[in-house]
This record gives sequence, C-alpha cells and structure tokens, in this order.
Amino acid sequence: MESALLVPLSLLLGAILGGGAVAIVIAAARRGQRAAQVATSTVPDGVGQVIDALESAALVLDASNTVIKTSPGAHALGLVWHRALVHARLIEVVDRVRRSGEAVTEDLELTRGPLGDAQLRLSVRVAPLGTRFMLLIADDRTEAHRLEAVRRDFVANISHELKTPIGAVGLLAEALEHASDDPEQVRKFADRLQIESARLAAMTQEIIELSRLQASNALADPAEVDVESVVSAAIDKNRVAAEAAGIQLVAGGAKKVKVLGDEAMLVTAVHNLIANAIQYSTKPSRVGIGVIRTDDIVEIAVTDQGVGIPDDELDRVFERFFRVDQARSRATGGTGLGLSIVKHIVQNHGGDVRVWSQAGHGSTFTIRLPRPVEQSTEPAPKKKKVRA
Ligand code: ADP
Repeated sequence: MESALLVPLSLLLGAILGGGAVAIVIAAARRGQRAAQVATSTVPDGVGQVIDALESAALVLDASNTVIKTSPGAHALGLVWHRALVHARLIEVVDRVRRSGEAVTEDLELTRGPLGDAQLRLSVRVAPLGTRFMLLIADDRTEAHRLEAVRRDFVANISHELKTPIGAVGLLAEALEHASDDPEQVRKFADRLQIESARLAAMTQEIIELSRLQASNALADPAEVDVESVVSAAIDKNRVAAEAAGIQLVAGGAKKVKVLGDEAMLVTAVHNLIANAIQYSTKPSRVGIGVIRTDDIVEIAVTDQGVGIPDDELDRVFERFFRVDQARSRATGGTGLGLSIVKHIVQNHGGDVRVWSQAGHGSTFTIRLPRPVEQSTEPAPKKKKVRA
C-alpha cells in the first residue's frame, strides 16, 4: 500500500474507534443515571405502607441521604426540609450506622424545624434497611420530659417549703425542754408549736389537693352547679376569719346561673380567693363577691381594697409557692399554694382566672367559666290543625 493512503486510513480508523469508545462511555453513564434515579425514588417493597401506617415520625433515606419516604409525623416534628434531614446531629447518627451496619438508639435534643427555637426531646432509632437504605424512627418525648421537670421542680419546692416549719417544730421542742421551770415560757412555746403544726397540716393538705388536680386535666363527671350556692358556701367558710379581721363580705350580682363542674372544687377556688382578699386587707374594709353572666361566660369576681400587688409581680402570683411578701404571707399562715390551686381548678373546668391589681389600692381576681350550652328538653309545640 502507498504510504500516502496509509495516513488518512489510520486517521479514519482512529476516529471510528474513538467515537465508539465515547458512545459506550456516554451510554454507560446514562444507564448509571437511570439506575440511580430508580434507586433513589423507590422504597423497598412493603416499607412504604408500613411507614404510612406509623403514628410516630419515620423516614427512609437512600445512599446519598436523600429522604425518599416520610410519615406525616416526620414533617410535623420538622425533621425533613427539601427531602433532606434538617439536623446535622441526625445526619451524623445515620452516617455512623451506615459505616458500622449496627442499629442504634439515641436520645437527642433538637430544634423543631430548620428555623424553630422550640426544643424537642426525641428518642431516635436508626437502622440499616437492606444494603442501601437507612430507616429512622423518632419518638417525641418532649411532653414526658417537661412533666418530669415539673415533678422534680415540685418535689424540690415542697422539700424546701417543709424544711422551715419542720425546723421550727424541732427548735420549739428544744426550747420547751429548757424552759420547763417557767410556765409562762412553756405556754408561749406551746402556742408557737401549735401554729407551726397547723401550718404543716395546711401545707400538706394543699400539696395533696394540688397534686390531685395536676394529675387530671379535665373533670371526669361534671354536674350542673348553681353558682350562687358556690359563692354562699365559700362566704360561709370565710365568715369567722372575716369577722375576726374586721372585714365585711358583700355578695351580689346575677342569680340562677349554672355552670358544669364539680361543686366542691369550685367552692374551694372561690374560698381561696376570698381568704386571700381578707388576708391581704387591713381593717376596716369590704370584700365584694360578684357574679356576672354574659351570653357564653360566667364571671365570679372577688374584689378587695387591700395591699394590692405590684405590677411586676402580677404574672407570678399563680405560681406554686410564690409570695409577694414572704414575711407577711408566713405571718398569716400562707402556703403560697392557694392561687395555684384556684388556677388548676378553673382550668379543669375549661375556664381561666385573671387578676387586676394596683399596689396600695386593692385587687380583683376574676374566675371565668364557660356557660353550658342550653339544651331545650321540651318537645317542640305541635302545630294546631286548622279545619277547613
Ligand atoms: P398565700 O398562701 O401566700 O396567700 P397564694 O397562692 O394564695 O398564697 O397567693 C400568692 C401570693 O399572691 C400571696 O403570697 C400574696 O403575696 C399575693 N396575693 C394573693 N391574693 C392577694 C390579694 N387579694 N391581695 C394582695 N396580694 C395577694
């Protein structure tokens, strides 16, 4: 063959071989892409249905950590955003499980969603699903953690509050022993012992009442209760204390008003408000108890002309063991639980309690309860037949 022909021929052959190789590579790449698309968009057989049926947050991730299946709960908890896990800590757990091949369970504290401030406490289980996928299941433990914190707080408060009267009883008993030759001193210490033991009894009683109220959210078996008899029972319970303190109790307002609830509990709530009104008033003065009925609501307002509450303390008076003036409250035998009990009783009745107050001028505490929906029990009147 002539050498002049050899060069173009070898060029042609090279072009054919090169073109073929490129075509093979492109086809392989396309096949790979298609395979990857199929792989990332499908969940293993049956897993999708299981996840749809799950109440807790659950999701499946593919090999590139793209979320390919979620239960509604996963979105509600804000774990997923644009088909990716929101939290770096979750991604880290998933990667660790992918490397080790071993399932793990971890308790994590995360924010709710990508922008949220709210903290979630989750128990997260991550497990491999076949060779390529990962399954993540998260149980929301936020409420359980909150309740546990409230309980711990309550127990710590109680221990702290009980320490003072228990310590006082011990000291008084010691003082009694040393003063056994002096009848005057013995009488004085015995009186103080009685006061401290009465305080301990009152506190124990209120702690039991409050724990019972906190344990249940709503009334199990509400009955129709007459608000007027609630108010008069609460006034009767406070009459002796009011007379001793030189305070006049004046009741008024709407009559024949009914609410749905527990009469004894409502009497306790109104009683606590009246007892406070008496305790934080100086004689001579009046405490008014008024009932107002609107279309949907019944209000029971207790108004005094007493010491009032400073503005910056108003939000805190319903907290357990909170007292504006520790010394005064202790001197009057206050436990700091009365308003907390009122708040829980009213909440259990579907209502709320509000306070208006001005330091030095007095306070008004208002319990607001929903009125029961009127149900006519009488049958609708029959239409008279008109004879033609
Ligand atoms: P306490 O047993 O100390 O009265 P409460 O829970 O009933 O506890 O009340 C909490 C605090 O709120 C009281 O210590 C008192 O400082 C304040 N307070 C409650 N009611 C009144 C009121 N009518 N007037 C002024 N202060 C009040």
